[in-house]
Formats: sequence, structure tokens, C-alpha cells
Amino acid sequence: MPVHSGAKLLFNKNENAAAQLKKVSDELDNLPNEFMKYIVNIDGTYEYRPIEGTTRLSPHSYGIAIDLEVKYTCYWLWDKEHNYRNEIPKEIVDIFEKHGFVWGGRWYHYDTMHFEYRPEMFERVL
Ligand SMILES: [Zn+2]
Repeated sequence: MPVHSGAKLLFNKNENAAAQLKKVSDELDNLPNEFMKYIVNIDGTYEYRPIEGTTRLSPHSYGIAIDLEVKYTCYWLWDKEHNYRNEIPKEIVDIFEKHGFVWGGRWYHYDTMHFEYRPEMFERVL
């Protein structure tokens, strides 16, 4: 988001992942100011680590995932009741999904700040 943030992010270049994130970034940058609190201070992209509570590598280990502002996330493991909640606006989710990013807010084990580049999941099956 050159206008609102200017932060440089490490992201995988394979399969156009970084190019698609750039498109997301440009569109997020054009959202009204009320959306900026979710996206200006992102939690991270590339980080070599397992998924919390498992030995499996996180998609962040491959540089294909991004976490938004942690202050507004709802994460199933942090939620004692495991009652689904979400604070991330649909406008932000729509922009990521349009460019091939799966939203963690759609998972049973929800993680609403998390988006990962999985274009194969948006391909039409004929
Ligand atoms: Zn994440």
C-alpha cells in the first residue's frame, strides 16, 4: 500500500503470488480511511514456523500467507468458547479473494486475519 503504508513485504514470487499481492495492496490502498486500521499495521508475511499447536509448517513458511492487524483478529485457539466471530470487513475479504487468496475466516478453525495465496481453490471445475 504505497499511499497508506509503504511497507516492503517478503512474499513468494512463484505462480504470480507476489504480483497478485501487489494487486490486492493497490486496491486496499484505495479503500476509505475507515478500513486502514485493519491493514496498515500488518502482522506479517514470510516466517518459517509451524502452525500453532502442530508440527506442520505454516503457509507463512512458504511466503504465501499474510496476516492483517492482530488487534482485530478472531482466532479459534484464542477463543475459549470457540464461537465464531469476525471483525474483518467484507470489502477487505472480497479484494483478497478476487486475487486468489483464501481467507482464514472461512475455516472451521477460523483465523480471521489470515489470507493465503491458493489460486487453485478458485479455479472452476467443469
Ligand atoms: Zn497467518
